[in-house]
Amino acid sequence: MALGEFDLIQRYFTRSPRQTILGVGDDAALIAPTPGLQLVIAADTMVEGRHFFPGTDPYTLGWKVLAVNLSDMAAMGARPRWATLCLTLPAADEAWLEGFSEGLYSLADQFEVDLIGGDTTCGPLAMSVQIIGEIEPGRALRRSGASAGDDIWISGPTGAAALAVKHRSGEVVLPPEALAACAARLDLPQPRVVLGRAVCGLASAAIDVSDGLLADLGHIAEMSCLGADLRVDLLPRLPDAFAGLPVAMVQDCQLAGGDDYELCFTAPAANRAAVEALGVSLELPLTRIGQMIAGGGVVAMDSSGTPIDIERSGFNHFRVA
Ligand code: ADP
Ligand code: MG
Repeated sequence: MALGEFDLIQRYFTRSPRQTILGVGDDAALIAPTPGLQLVIAADTMVEGRHFFPGTDPYTLGWKVLAVNLSDMAAMGARPRWATLCLTLPAADEAWLEGFSEGLYSLADQFEVDLIGGDTTCGPLAMSVQIIGEIEPGRALRRSGASAGDDIWISGPTGAAALAVKHRSGEVVLPPEALAACAARLDLPQPRVVLGRAVCGLASAAIDVSDGLLADLGHIAEMSCLGADLRVDLLPRLPDAFAGLPVAMVQDCQLAGGDDYELCFTAPAANRAAVEALGVSLELPLTRIGQMIAGGGVVAMDSSGTPIDIERSGFNHFRVA
């Protein structure tokens, strides 16, 4: 690398931390967790060609590699506090590093997370963040906490990020406005950290939608030893993004498209009004999209309760036999 490893770290990844005893620059970082709280730890990696297209804007990569980790904190109900970054770069491209670190720090600042260390190596472009958060004992939102009869909620539209991927891979051609809206969802996801914190006392289980709604709701169902009835007609959609597209493609995006980073959570029906009020106060379109039931698997159904034919989309294995 033209720019030495230490100069690179010093220039792009060393900013004064706000809540850290010893940050970037020593052999390891020192942090002081809040007495009485539990630590919540997650990590997520993004690899070029697998998780993002070659040539993706570095600002969005820096933003997103932190965003996907913050989303895991949100899904647990945790307050994120510290992060480490492992970066593998083909070359020390200063314009790229500038954009990447700006994207990362802008989101870190928004949620008051300190970057406290990491590792930098040469190789095919890949990045991995580990995040450390805190939560009050007993308060974490687990996937296993749902009960039969609980409402299923989603914090926003699904499928738009998947549609942007379809556009970039040449499968569809979106009009410019729809593309801009979908690309923003794919490239600059807004982690629902504030919602995750606030919904802690109301929700029984939660997950962030990273792999697709059916799959992720399926995790809640499986770990709660329940089934889930999902009303496809109630799923929120990004306005106009799907206009004119075949129904099968729309459903495929909404149900199986990844990268949305909305929270899907369950809550007792008794908390319905409180969840709705929370949506109003946070200005999030919290939407009730189904119900947990006894049994197993996720059934996607229309407004009359008839299971819809989703077999051609290849995810019939989520249905109860
Ligand atoms: P070591 O040789 O002990 O592994 P390094 O030379 O890898 O140390 O790193 C020096 C310092 O820079 C350490 O504090 C490490 O945590 C930090 N660091 C390295 N890479 C990054 C990065 N991409 N982002 C943030 N901090 C980093
Ligand atoms: Mg190292």
